[in-house]
Amino acid sequence: MRAYTAGDADVPLLEETIGENFERVVAQFPLHDALIEAAAVPGADARRWSYTKLNDDVDRLARALLALGIAKGERVGIWSPNCAEWTVLQYATAKIGAVLVNVNPSYRSHELEFVVKQNGMRMLVTAPSDRNSDYVGMARQALAGCPDLRELVFLPDFELDGLDAGVPLGEQEFTYAELLKRADAVGHSELKARMAGLDPHDPINLQYTSGTTGFPKGATLTHHNILNNGYSIGELLGYTDHDRVVIPVPFYHCFGMVIGNLNALSHGAATIIPGRGFTPAAALEAVQDFGGTALYGVPTMFIAELALPDFASYDLSTLRTGVMAGSLCPIEVMNRVISEMNMKDVAICYGMTETSPVSTMTRDGDTLQQRTETVGRTMPRLENKIVDPAGEVVERGEIGELCTRGYAVMQGYWNQPDKTAEAIDADGWMHTGDLARMDDGGYVVIEGRMKDTVIRGGENIYPREIEEYLYTHPSIQDVQVIGVPDARYGEELMACIILKPGAEPLDAAAVAEFCRGKLAHYKVPRYVDVRDSFPMTVSGKVRKVEMREEAVARLGL
Ligand code: AMP
Repeated sequence: MRAYTAGDADVPLLEETIGENFERVVAQFPLHDALIEAAAVPGADARRWSYTKLNDDVDRLARALLALGIAKGERVGIWSPNCAEWTVLQYATAKIGAVLVNVNPSYRSHELEFVVKQNGMRMLVTAPSDRNSDYVGMARQALAGCPDLRELVFLPDFELDGLDAGVPLGEQEFTYAELLKRADAVGHSELKARMAGLDPHDPINLQYTSGTTGFPKGATLTHHNILNNGYSIGELLGYTDHDRVVIPVPFYHCFGMVIGNLNALSHGAATIIPGRGFTPAAALEAVQDFGGTALYGVPTMFIAELALPDFASYDLSTLRTGVMAGSLCPIEVMNRVISEMNMKDVAICYGMTETSPVSTMTRDGDTLQQRTETVGRTMPRLENKIVDPAGEVVERGEIGELCTRGYAVMQGYWNQPDKTAEAIDADGWMHTGDLARMDDGGYVVIEGRMKDTVIRGGENIYPREIEEYLYTHPSIQDVQVIGVPDARYGEELMACIILKPGAEPLDAAAVAEFCRGKLAHYKVPRYVDVRDSFPMTVSGKVRKVEMREEAVARLGL
């Protein structure tokens, strides 16, 4: 049997814009909770929006943007950790047809200016500066250096309970509150007229892919792409207007704004923001305080939550489901998430920004084995296949590159037709760069990134297999395996290990002993690097490239 599957073709796709979809849901559930943001400082109140209130706030911001003359298709960036205004801007830009540009909050001035220039961004909405990032200073530098950028908007200082940042403003600068006042100049009929002129197939969102090498590329996504993908994930999770979805993953990534916001808000469910960035305690507190039924995270987030010394004291009894995505989940972690966090229906989603993002997902009733060893099967209205280097579909069980086709595939990379053509072939297949195989039931197993594969003395090694095994060691809390250069074998393996608190130290000899008789000799890591943390992207992916560079420098390879 060949490694090709098509998802359910009978499921209808939504043929509406994000704004139309939202207004339809608001009319159905006007008084339901739509958005709750946990208090940033102890003792303060959470901020809460019903669907009606959220829609009112979205409309006010949308009218303010119209008042400034933002045209359909113009790019409006947001550069901020998670906050309620992020969601309001997501829907306001969608209603007026402006293309929201998600700017990674960990970007610094050089990366910011690259992105602003690459898409000719017109307005940038910026977080207030905090301990780690002088957002305001760097945004001002971008304003001075990028002629297309005409307005900067500073979000309220949400850490200080809604006060404005208090910076003296230049001519092209607005506080969020000042911007909102502009709404008075534009009537609701003008907003309705703008909405009526939009097409679901218009681009509405630009997300720069992490790109560990080379310059980031802007995946251009339409209403149709991301609304349908978000909605479809919620359908498979069985979401209703009673669900309360806790979202500790960043909004700037699809995981937050599609799998989180668009999914929940197209089902009448509540979105819950535990905090600006991820902390394990805040995520569990949000579940407990707001009755979360679903919790999201990349595996390392769940690992951190389970490792909290007071983990057992949180009431997680309302949880039922959730999404784990972004990287492979060790079996032990999945077991504990299901049994100790009560997330019996937790789903694994797989995909990439360029596919809106989810292309495969596990389903209700899938076995534990399917939820730990596979990333599920093809989503409705999509197709997946696995191909060899010549582009031929391989047999089930054989490893090759995973390719995805259908409504979720992006329009292309913004202003980079050559890069688009490298990623999406003439038949519409997005080439993911991920190595995978498909089992007889159509379930997809991810073997790693094509570029993570380590080749040691001619043997192809998929680090994931070794990570899974090392994870069973009683002293190991988290582990990443990378390839480092070697004169004799081309590459050698290094295991980068985070130990459990209080565990005995581990060295290469101890790890080799643990692997003896269990793994083929060439898969036994030559080097062991015990460390406190891994370098991570904001979306929770381990930066293996960076770890490799560090190792090369440290070992003088
Ligand atoms: P991004 O575009 O930042 O969302 O990154 C997409 C990449 O993350 C994919 O190409 C995969 O390599 C990886 N990925 C996403 N979801 C999973 C998953 N469930 N299991 C393993 N890898 C994943």
